[in-house]
Amino acid sequence: MSLQLYSDYPLRRLNTFGFESYAQCFTRLETAGDVISLHRYVDEHRLPLLLIGGGSNLILGPKVPGVVAQVAIAGMELEALAGDAVRVTLGAGENWHGSIERLLEQGVYGLENLALIPGCAGAAPVQNIGAYGVEVKDRLEAVEVYDWQQRRFYWLDNAECRFAYRDSIFKHETDRYLITRVRFLLSRQPDCVLSYKPLRDAIEPGQEGNPRAIFDAVCRIRRAKLPDPTLLGNAGSFFKNPIVTAGQYQALRQRYPDMVAYPEGEEFKLAAGWLIDRQGWKGYRQEGVGVHEHQALVLVNYGEGNRQQIERLAERIQSDVLEQYGVQLEVEPRFYP
Ligand code: FAD
Ligand code: NAP
Repeated sequence: MSLQLYSDYPLRRLNTFGFESYAQCFTRLETAGDVISLHRYVDEHRLPLLLIGGGSNLILGPKVPGVVAQVAIAGMELEALAGDAVRVTLGAGENWHGSIERLLEQGVYGLENLALIPGCAGAAPVQNIGAYGVEVKDRLEAVEVYDWQQRRFYWLDNAECRFAYRDSIFKHETDRYLITRVRFLLSRQPDCVLSYKPLRDAIEPGQEGNPRAIFDAVCRIRRAKLPDPTLLGNAGSFFKNPIVTAGQYQALRQRYPDMVAYPEGEEFKLAAGWLIDRQGWKGYRQEGVGVHEHQALVLVNYGEGNRQQIERLAERIQSDVLEQYGVQLEVEPRFYP
């Protein structure tokens, strides 16, 4: 089957910041055959390519050159393994939150802490999504990719994905891999992670081992704290939590005893939201964009904002935090182009 290509395609509804943006050319990939056709097309026309899922971790400029391809490969397969283990394979285009909910309904557990993260299954390994003490790498068995260099499909196992804190091989080799399917090792036996205090506090006594209760609590907390992108454009946390050495942390701790930080191996992870909030940025507005009034880590689009404005605001926050704490904040979403 040949690809359906659309020119000058509006992307406003395909990025959760809601920035006005047009793709020179847009297509949707639903099958492995579409992926191969796309490869031939971009090769033949020598076009740049951006892969997109739900657009919830992307900051788009007003014009996106080349092809934007939305990976819309569907499918959910369950395979019973020994004991209570279940192997779950999701097509890259499956909605992430909807998949967790469907699994929960079928008594398959392990992804509850990652509820309500927007976007598609295929993007989840890209930044090794994480929330409330669980990261995708903790439950992932393998990722099926189409390798643009080798021109073939194959599986990368968990170790080969080189997962780290909000990081993976896919963030570094952006032009090499198209993720087509993601495989998880889950269980019919609940394995509840309640290491985060706000989550623990939100669970009714006696429900600590109930995955449905965890799922509901995560959704409740997130709905109360985070702006809904359909109402207020955003891409979730705008900066990663910086990781610093134990020495740096001790020095900062002496100056700021109430600083929020957590051990991360031998190093320390500082809560970027605390650093930004303490500098007084919460609720700040500049041009059409700003810092969310309830969560300093989330930058928002008040309606007519654009990529340049968000870049300017982010740079101001970064220099302020660097000057005050000597810590460089790294942007989490990807800017394109
Ligand atoms: P997109 O934004 O479309 O793409 C993200 C990146 O992945 C891009 O580089 C894109 O090129 C690449 N990509 C997409 N699909 C593929 C594919 N099939 N193959 C190869 N590359 C691909 N993140 C967290 O980690 N934890 C959170 O708790 C969290 N909460 C959020 C809350 C809100 C309100 C919002 C708006 C965002 C949040 N995010 C969070 C960020 C974001 O939702 C995740 O990173 C999500 O996995 C992105 O999925 P997506 O389909 O929207 O990806
Ligand atoms: P929070 O609970 O207010 O905590 C602030 C920060 O402290 C978080 O960033 C978290 O780091 C860290 N933290 C809290 N308790 C911890 C513990 N017991 N052990 C280790 N680290 C701990 O955070 P929040 O902003 O409301 O977000 C809640 C969760 O959702 C977090 O996991 C966050 O990452 C996730 N989230 C992510 C995005 C995104 O776009 N990436 C957006 C919204 C929410 P971590 O961030 O490393 O977990």
